[in-house]
Amino acid sequence: MDNPDFLIIGGGSAGAVLASRLSQDPRTRVLLVEAGRDTPPGAIPTDIADTFPSSSLNASYFWPGLQAQRSSDTPPRPYVQARVMGGGSSIMGLWALRGMPSDYDAWAAAGAIGWSWKDVLPLFRRFENDADCDQSQTSTGPYPIRRLPREEWPRVVVAVENEASRRGWRFIDDINERPAEGFFAMPLSQDAHGRASSARCYLTSEVRGRSNLSILAETTVTGLRFDGQRACGVTATRDGQRRDVAAREVIVCAGAIHSPALLLRAGIGPSEELARLGITPRADRCGVGRNLQNHPYLHFGLTLPPRSRLARELRHFAIAGLRLSSGFEDCPAGDLLLFLIGRVSGRDYGCDLAMLGAALYSPFSRGRVTLTSPQADIPPRVEFGMFEDPRDPPRMLKAAQFAESLLLSEAVAATYNDAFLLPPVMSLQQFNRTGIAGSLMGLAIKTVLNAPPVLTRTILGRRIRPGRWIANRRWHAPASDAELIAAAAPMAHPCGTCAIGPESNNMAVVDPHCRVYGVENLRVVDASVMPRVPSANTNLPTIMVAERAAELIHSERA
Ligand SMILES: Cc1cc2nc3c(=O)[nH]c(=O)nc-3n(C[C@H](O)[C@H](O)[C@H](O)COP(=O)(O)OP(=O)(O)OC[C@H]3O[C@@H](n4cnc5c(N)ncnc54)[C@H](O)[C@@H]3O)c2cc1C
Repeated sequence: MDNPDFLIIGGGSAGAVLASRLSQDPRTRVLLVEAGRDTPPGAIPTDIADTFPSSSLNASYFWPGLQAQRSSDTPPRPYVQARVMGGGSSIMGLWALRGMPSDYDAWAAAGAIGWSWKDVLPLFRRFENDADCDQSQTSTGPYPIRRLPREEWPRVVVAVENEASRRGWRFIDDINERPAEGFFAMPLSQDAHGRASSARCYLTSEVRGRSNLSILAETTVTGLRFDGQRACGVTATRDGQRRDVAAREVIVCAGAIHSPALLLRAGIGPSEELARLGITPRADRCGVGRNLQNHPYLHFGLTLPPRSRLARELRHFAIAGLRLSSGFEDCPAGDLLLFLIGRVSGRDYGCDLAMLGAALYSPFSRGRVTLTSPQADIPPRVEFGMFEDPRDPPRMLKAAQFAESLLLSEAVAATYNDAFLLPPVMSLQQFNRTGIAGSLMGLAIKTVLNAPPVLTRTILGRRIRPGRWIANRRWHAPASDAELIAAAAPMAHPCGTCAIGPESNNMAVVDPHCRVYGVENLRVVDASVMPRVPSANTNLPTIMVAERAAELIHSERA
């Protein structure tokens, strides 16, 4: 397609939505460029369709070589960001949370006018199709949400819910419509057809059939092109062939790590820093790549006797959650989250181990995405700066210690054999490998998990390093504060690196219509524009961002 009205970089959670919504107007010509493979209707890979997140273990869907540093005193570790149509929504764990009203009111207070809870709630209701909730509230939008019925919950989850209820936490039937503290069934982005990626739900056969929409997959944008201060297209490579593509407007939807990297390489960012890398500064915006936010979390792994396990045929991952408030001064309500995972592998042994997670869902710490080279094939440097704000470690400890205390209650302890504090790596990678090595490892794990508990405890206790055995119904070796903080890792929810805000604030990168300050015809629309990380996993909020941006763009063209 020559010179489209909109060239969208990245067909992820946001980009697929935007391509679909903008091309609804037959006068608007849209070109979507995605670096990863396509997942068209009828050819969605089985690991992506799976409701257990098997795709989060398939490295062919990731950006290669990407690493992230949790904080300045920890080494960089491999960090997963999606490179496939649907982006994160094609590999995520399927939690579908909106967050708290205060999250979006804080966006508006930061200068994101038109993005308060009152503004965004109707959008969530419009694009969701929540079969379990009051249908007068949530319409029959394109994005399905379901929960695992309580009757199917494994015993260990029921025991945690009962214990939470005994301590005063009520059950909330719909955490998205009634956001508050309490125990809830996890809303999940899935239906009878499997995973609901943004690609599956928005780039349908009908949408792909539009003559004003073109999709170029397996094509990587290596640079933004400018005519003076006006964006006029991109340079892209496909199968080693480089080509320039002109466009009237470019919309960057490359995610919170790669969107700021594209802007920085184009000279939009902190001028001095860019000049040191030999990049000619184009617009001096210090906020590009700054304000990086994410949720820290940790897991306790629970070996289960057969009576406590999720039924083998259920391919669910997250089952339920408990939202809490730290109660610390100046910290928002609902800033902590505990969650229960019923299956750790798509393989046979997957339900033999459950996890109880604890996370800080409203962190104050901020990190950054920077370049180490102007070259497009060198991954950006990612530093989360986790726990660098003194208000964060005590709240993370509060969440972790509350989770630990639930595990120690007599009724919960009766449902598992042993509890372990797991190491700070992506939890599923510990229990899964692909290929023949993975099959052999699977057999070994199954044997270990179904051995007499004393043997399981000894072998897992040796294998899980730097985590360790914590408790069973008789004994408890409490984790120290240092161990709990060391076990916390960044979730896969980076955001905030091209934040919406007023032009007068140099840390703001885009205006409330997502237009990049200092240049023309360039927008960013993805998780990068969130001024503050919502107290929710970020897929649903990112889809909302794209829906809102599409609405704003349509209003400009009306
Ligand atoms: C392993 C994992 C588990 C997660 N679990 C959950 C969960 O359970 N619930 C939840 O709500 N959220 C979850 N998330 C987070 C959620 O998926 C992300 O917040 C969301 O997908 C972000 O959307 P985005 O559009 O900003 O970026 P992405 O969805 O990452 O999309 C960016 C897209 O741009 C493409 N791209 C980047 N650079 C270029 C380029 N130069 N040229 C062409 N294309 C490019 C990428 O390939 C990608 O497809 C998870 C994320 C991961 C990685």
